[in-house]
Amino acid sequence: MKYYSTNHEAPEVSLREAVIKGLAPDKGLYMPFSIPTLPEQFFEQIDKKSFQEIAFTVATALFGEDIESGVLRTIVDDALNFDVPAVKVTDKIYALELFHGPTLAFKDVGARFMARLLRHFIHTDERGKVNVLVATSGDTGSAVANGFLGVKGIQVYVLYPNEKVSQLQEMQFTTLGDNITAIAVNGTFDDCQSLVKKAFMDAELNKRMKLTSANSINLARLLPQSFYYFYAYAQMKRLGVANRLVVCVPSGNFGNIAAGLIAWKMGLPIHRFIAANNRNDVFFKYLQTGHYEPRPSVATIANAMDVGDPSNFARILALFDNDYNAIKSLISGASYTDEEIKKTIQTAFREHDYLLDPHGACAYQALAEQLKTDETGLFLETAHPAKFRDTISGIIGKEPEIPVRLQAFMNGKKECLYLDNNFEQLKSFLLNELVRA
Ligand SMILES: *Cc1c(COP(=O)(O)O)cnc(C)c1O
Repeated sequence: MKYYSTNHEAPEVSLREAVIKGLAPDKGLYMPFSIPTLPEQFFEQIDKKSFQEIAFTVATALFGEDIESGVLRTIVDDALNFDVPAVKVTDKIYALELFHGPTLAFKDVGARFMARLLRHFIHTDERGKVNVLVATSGDTGSAVANGFLGVKGIQVYVLYPNEKVSQLQEMQFTTLGDNITAIAVNGTFDDCQSLVKKAFMDAELNKRMKLTSANSINLARLLPQSFYYFYAYAQMKRLGVANRLVVCVPSGNFGNIAAGLIAWKMGLPIHRFIAANNRNDVFFKYLQTGHYEPRPSVATIANAMDVGDPSNFARILALFDNDYNAIKSLISGASYTDEEIKKTIQTAFREHDYLLDPHGACAYQALAEQLKTDETGLFLETAHPAKFRDTISGIIGKEPEIPVRLQAFMNGKKECLYLDNNFEQLKSFLLNELVRA
């Protein structure tokens, strides 16, 4: 399969190049030239298959030309080593719980898959170790660090703003050791991001070491997210509620819903989608007006969705050939304030004994308001509520239960390196690492 850039000003590339590059040289996002469709027979039998089996079939359709079957099978099985159950919340609404992985958020799926795919591709490369640089405001760092932990041939550097991420988040990437190095930067998230960008543009660094990013716009993180939409459908079919299925996705950078739309294009019978936003509602506004007007993001309690110019909007346009009416007829939107999110969490907890996280709460609420009588709703519960312990305890008046694997991070030993917001310092550190290795 060949991949093109959504800006159409860069050469088409192979899967390998798209994964190693991440962003196209024209700053566009890579997309597959054609989206394969799966045979009807696959959907007839889907409810009899396991998550891994379903994912392998989808992965073969997407990557089968580029990766040998046995290798792909191992990558899928290794990456998806946790369940993604569909859980009943109300008579008509189900939660797809995507938080049973190592860092308790859906980003584990993409990060784990990408780490293994990257290892496969560099395996056949003689130029030595690959260095992944990633800037994080919290959640991306933990998913990437844990996804790449112990993967041979890859060294990960997580740059984060010192004292500006929650303790829980920090412990998820500073306690790992092995091939993961955490760097606390005396600055903001934007400073971290700009240091990473400077590193990618520095000629000397790039000559001496192989650098890549594990940014969420990387295809290797995006495409595997389509797997759980198929598995969700399989579970709903098993339960006899897959007819007129409405899937609601709490959206920030729109990678998750883009993966769902790709699954739909591959033939998955989803009736329609809802993209639920917090107060950062540029997509919701776009659906109403036909105009896409990015704005600086505002801070909310669903902070992983605080995005003012979602990168994957370009991919959604590409999937629909820029046809606003086609987009509008398949996807509707919603937007909620912090107050509304809090009220939703309270109500769902009180009336349905289900504890939502602030992101999933947006999606649950959109279904509660927009679902028609002949439809069944499924929302993506993208993170475990305990990841937002302080927010949640403030809303429900008690501490959420902390899962054992989240607690385990808190018992680890924090190790990180402190750097100023200074590119030369970062550069000499990286070059020194090279000498040490
Ligand atoms: C990243 C994230 C989102 C937003 O996903 P996108 O793919 O950026 O739309 C939603 N919820 C949680 C918990 C996240 O970490």
